[in-house]
Amino acid sequence: MDTKVLLPTDENIEYAAKLLNGGEVIGMPTETVYGLASNAFDESAVEKIFIAKGRPQDNPLIVHINSLEMLKNLVVEVPDVAYKLAEKFWPGPLTMIFQKSDNVPLAVTAGLSTIAVRFPSNKVANALITKAGIPLAAPSANTSGRPSPTSANHVYNDLNGKIPAILDGGTCEYGLESTVILLKDDENITLLRPGSVTIEMLESAVPYVTVDKGVLHEIKQNEQVLSPGMKHTHYSPTAKVIIIDSNFERFKDFIDRHDYKNIGAMVFEGEEKELDVPCVTYGGEDDELLQAKLLFSSLRAIDDMGVSTIYARMPKKDGIGLAIYNRLIRAAGFEVIEL
Ligand code: AMP
Ligand code: MG
Repeated sequence: MDTKVLLPTDENIEYAAKLLNGGEVIGMPTETVYGLASNAFDESAVEKIFIAKGRPQDNPLIVHINSLEMLKNLVVEVPDVAYKLAEKFWPGPLTMIFQKSDNVPLAVTAGLSTIAVRFPSNKVANALITKAGIPLAAPSANTSGRPSPTSANHVYNDLNGKIPAILDGGTCEYGLESTVILLKDDENITLLRPGSVTIEMLESAVPYVTVDKGVLHEIKQNEQVLSPGMKHTHYSPTAKVIIIDSNFERFKDFIDRHDYKNIGAMVFEGEEKELDVPCVTYGGEDDELLQAKLLFSSLRAIDDMGVSTIYARMPKKDGIGLAIYNRLIRAAGFEVIEL
């Protein structure tokens, strides 16, 4: 199969919608990362997503909608707190977990009785959902374990030959996957995965936001988790990534005194000029929005640098920084050196 990369013209969106209604899987842009989409009601189409990505069978998918009517078909009930959060953050990069209705095949939720749903803001994604007339199950469109794709080219590099088409909507606006939350009651929610809707933003709508331990800490293979995706290997380039928790002065000193050849550095904009090893940058030290946007393409770029180990500067842990840290620490297999 030859994978077509298509500009999102009306004609191509209509073609992509036809593929989806015919049980195919396609790459689509969203404001977070590119998604690998299929009809959420079509079990065999959903199974194709797992095959194309090599995704572990126990890792559930997020379903993408563009109306509250569509949401009601997927879930048993919509709690008040969800309406409140939807009002504030939808369309946008927030995923909420609901009790699943029987309409949805278990393949979507990896056997769970709950379902993750999001209303994306990306225009192409919305046009596609409208044209197809169905909710779209869509995880990130990377090969499992690789950094998530933030351009059509990333999707093509991972999945060429495995899917019929990718809609090319340019570079993703945010560049990190959505914030995922569990709803408890009107006053309490639990953060399962940090994203561009930050804790601070969530707290403006719901008073108590608990951060699940999997957000910051490594989960052991046999540990019970609220979000199955937390325990899988993620975002890794071929080189080993190690995070250095220090200021730039000590980071530079560590790199300069390093005995081995074959190392590289992942640093903030401008710092590369002061280092003698191959570098990849991911935004300015104080520009978290840009760091988020560049993180995955920088992790992918490491593969072309021909180095065996990359030492990465530590992002901040608040605001969007928490989401960046959550991804980078997984790319690093939780290896951090404090200097
Ligand atoms: P991805 O689509 O690659 O962004 O991954 C989807 C994320 O949402 C994974 O981390 C899943 O574990 C999480 N997720 C999806 N459905 C559920 C659910 N029903 N309960 C908890 N987490 C979920
Ligand atoms: Mg993913």
